[in-house]
Amino acid sequence: MTDLSSAECKFCHTSPCRVWKLRWPVFRHLDFTDVAASGYVIECDACGAVAAADFDRVAAVHHGFLHGAEYLAAAPTAHVVRGGGSADTRPARQADWITRHLAESGVANPRVLDVGCFDGALLRELFARCPAALRLVGFDPNPDVAGWFPKEQPFEFHASLASVEGDNHPFDVIIASHSLMYDCHLPETVAILAKLLSWNGLLILMMPDIARNPPYLLMGDQYWFGVPEYLTRMLRQHGIASTLGSVEDWGHDLVLLASATMPPSRLASPDLVTPHMPSILASLDESARRLRSLPSRGPGYHVLGRTANAAFAAAILGDRCIGFVDEALPQGQSRLFRGLPAMPPANLFESRHTSGIVLCYGDRNDPMSRRLLHYGAALFST
Ligand SMILES: [Zn+2]
Repeated sequence: MTDLSSAECKFCHTSPCRVWKLRWPVFRHLDFTDVAASGYVIECDACGAVAAADFDRVAAVHHGFLHGAEYLAAAPTAHVVRGGGSADTRPARQADWITRHLAESGVANPRVLDVGCFDGALLRELFARCPAALRLVGFDPNPDVAGWFPKEQPFEFHASLASVEGDNHPFDVIIASHSLMYDCHLPETVAILAKLLSWNGLLILMMPDIARNPPYLLMGDQYWFGVPEYLTRMLRQHGIASTLGSVEDWGHDLVLLASATMPPSRLASPDLVTPHMPSILASLDESARRLRSLPSRGPGYHVLGRTANAAFAAAILGDRCIGFVDEALPQGQSRLFRGLPAMPPANLFESRHTSGIVLCYGDRNDPMSRRLLHYGAALFST
């Protein structure tokens, strides 16, 4: 058994770092099923890195599915983000944003690299908007996804970042969306990306933000967790300054927009390290308390979404959670999530078999909540 009391920071190698035990089940991102009854996370006082305390445990979770049939059988990327009235996918939103950025930068024939491209959804969306693109390169460590990736020019697929050609800083935009937290060699990967980014190019790094979305601390298959301090420091070591993306543009993810030509941001000071763990753990504790105090009446609760937030609420509710509600599902269709049915709201309200809908870290005023209230839902916020 690994001695967790002597955990070392995986980024700056300060030792010992404080180890936090998570008192809740931890999940894997493939289907948000539990992979362990608890997890261990370190937060480095020196550089602000938040990472799994034991990379071997995380690697064991990955080993089970990353290159297996289960991973390939997962539904292709259809991450749905909150829209102003209708469901919208994350790749479409990202492609819109990148297209605007390229137009404002005067880049007519862009070269774009997508790190963790999976089936190429984002690059397809970009091609639809920028048919004059010179190179649309996808990298994914799983070579089996190449079968889904477009074959024609200007698309290129690489299963190794080292095989992406271009010694001369070839990419105008590099995006790493929800991929680098699964990379145990993150510092080395960022060094490669710095060499692939053109001098005035833009690197977009996205991860779940554990300060805004505390349940994402419970991902048992992430090596790294999203807080700005150490990521900013990592980029700066390669001469790349970064700034935080806005919630309006990118939703509640942590987004760092980084470029060698960007003026240094307020995040660039090496002395500014904000401890995040105490407030995140307190927030999870408070949510768990509220979930446990929901009234015991009726058939049981449905939880909104198929995310870490939903998995956390379901884990706390135990057998009082009887299913999930997901606006992104087509009418009349249901899916299994953590072994329970997930269905679109209309189907749930036809059946009327629920004690109410739980919004874990949801906002009763956001457009999705307002649409659920329109159906006459009993909503419970945590
Ligand atoms: Zn550190």
